[in-house]
Amino acid sequence: MSTSRPRPSFPAKLGKSIAIGAPAAAPVSSAQQLLKPAATRLGKTELPVQAQGLGLDSQVVRHKMVLKLQEQGITDPRVILAMGRIERHRFLDSALVNQAYEDTSLPIGYGQTISKPGVVSRMMELLLQAPSMLKKSPTQGQAKLGRILEIGTGCGYQAALLGQIASEVYSMERVRGLHDKARENLRPLSLPNVHLLLGDGMVGYPKGAPYAAIISAAGGDALPQAWLDQLALHGRLVAPMVAHGTQQALLVVDHTPQGFVHTVLEAVHFVPLKSGLA
Ligand code: SAH
Repeated sequence: MSTSRPRPSFPAKLGKSIAIGAPAAAPVSSAQQLLKPAATRLGKTELPVQAQGLGLDSQVVRHKMVLKLQEQGITDPRVILAMGRIERHRFLDSALVNQAYEDTSLPIGYGQTISKPGVVSRMMELLLQAPSMLKKSPTQGQAKLGRILEIGTGCGYQAALLGQIASEVYSMERVRGLHDKARENLRPLSLPNVHLLLGDGMVGYPKGAPYAAIISAAGGDALPQAWLDQLALHGRLVAPMVAHGTQQALLVVDHTPQGFVHTVLEAVHFVPLKSGLA
């Protein structure tokens, strides 16, 4: 995808300078560099905000999406705020922009998809409902999660959302083209706490460990041991996994002083977790 592709064109006030603290093309093997503060601080970027005749105001449609999420049972104010704040249309190719606020997964290239807002918000809410978080913030207050590891950056949408509910986000992607695309998409948002890493998420990112939360946007057959090793005590992992036969389900793993407690939740449909780089 060329970096000069036309941007989705909802009316938007963007154009802040960027501080994504990670040189995006660096392999994980040189990942210690990625922890350096704002190694890549790029200049002020203005997005072209040209009307393309969509006749939609993104804030209004996004608000409707959030209302639907609430109808589906999302209650955490931190999730609701994040879903209302991050503009999903900015992560999509222009041909798909008018479907941006439907509760559907959409193609992002390289055979991958952006996850459904319903599933993304459900997974974030599960992270915030970890027993340790409820202790910190029993009335679903303002507490943020600590450091999060996300596997499967894709177009960067969920990474941006996670950046709203956590102090630091390390997001890994195995497909270089998507890693680059996510960097482009996130640039105007100025999220210095979101770090993009090119690498195989199945091995996690030990340099950032231990993580208060681990979230995967790709589903495997078995839980990689590295994820358990890198999950902090009292941390929570949420990932799609094959649970019974071929059916994927959301798996929650809590790291308790007594060990790892696994809970299998509803069926989901995510792209496969693959090993190695592409
Ligand atoms: N959260 C993303 C969803 C992307 S789909 C978004 O908001 O757009 C899942 C992504 O997981 C795909 O981009 C896929 O390439 C990636 N993926 C699959 N296996 C992976 C692995 N082992 N390490 C890192 N990324 C992986």
